[in-house]
Amino acid sequence: MERIVEIETFSADEEQSELSLRPDAWSEYIGQERIKKNLGVFIEASKKREEALDHVLFFGPPGLGKTTLALIIANEMNANIKVTAAPMIEKSGDLAAILTNLEEGDILFIDEIHRLSPAVEEILYSSMEDFRIDIIIGSGPAAQTVKIDLPRFTLIGATTRAGMLSNPLRDRFGMSFRMQFYSSEELAKIIVQASNKLDKEIVHQASIEIAKRSRGTPRIALRLLRRVRDFADVANEADIKHSRTQYALDELGINSHGFDEMDLKLLNLLVSAKGRAMGLSTIAAALSEDEGTVEDVLEPYLIANGYLERTAKGRKATRATYEILNISLPSEEGTLF
Ligand code: ADP
Repeated sequence: MERIVEIETFSADEEQSELSLRPDAWSEYIGQERIKKNLGVFIEASKKREEALDHVLFFGPPGLGKTTLALIIANEMNANIKVTAAPMIEKSGDLAAILTNLEEGDILFIDEIHRLSPAVEEILYSSMEDFRIDIIIGSGPAAQTVKIDLPRFTLIGATTRAGMLSNPLRDRFGMSFRMQFYSSEELAKIIVQASNKLDKEIVHQASIEIAKRSRGTPRIALRLLRRVRDFADVANEADIKHSRTQYALDELGINSHGFDEMDLKLLNLLVSAKGRAMGLSTIAAALSEDEGTVEDVLEPYLIANGYLERTAKGRKATRATYEILNISLPSEEGTLF
């Protein structure tokens, strides 16, 4: 069987070049050891039984390798994969069309699965559980329900917001995995692997330097690698050196703790509250970002590293935030430490 990989969600140049750096085998997928080990067992078991793999859910911040894992699973299962994202499935008819076009053993990857509308989600329930959908044809008294059997397929869902998934949907996944941020050593390996693919040597120290400033996220590490490579190319340097890397990253405004401009804006904002908690909507308005981006993209890395705390009253800077920004702890007004 010839494998079909349909990718509908990528278009821009940057995303195209991301595709070329995407690993397609376990050996190239660095880190997330627990997930790899578990998935390896489940994949082998279902191959032995010649059955489709149970439905899988990946959750965690963007850029940590959820889509890549889905593609590797498809590779391992020797299955076709169709990649789509919830905002592209507007009506239940759109999902029905996708599902009825699947073949036995195919994989359907739905990114941002928490954004499916309730009507679409409803169709997904029966298709995931019973491999059947009920479609209503016509309207009013003449409306008829037609039951359509589906082939046994595997749904792989990805979400940045596990908390926004409805319980019935979450319960229908046989496996769910939380993605972890990557260590600097893991990111450095990813960077070296990618620079080999880009045909550009990178010295070890330079790969660690980029890794440390990548917010624990492969997508950011690869983006920074491409920018640093630009600086090296313009300077006519055959390889990527440590000094050039430091210079380029400083030019790009990324500080040595891996915070980018938005992180620093957010941390400075929290510190300006002098120990008081700040609400999500206030933060979003002050940063001119939507609340979803603040919650899904900005906060998880800062929380994981102990620079931001979520409390019942809102978000707070931690002791470590004051230390890292070199600002003295609030004394009189701040009552929360
Ligand atoms: P997500 O779907 O979680 O947003 P992606 O799977 O699109 O993230 O990953 C972003 C980029 O980072 C991909 O192009 C891929 O090349 C790279 N990447 C992610 N995880 C890994 C990993 N564990 N090892 C190597 N490269 C990775």
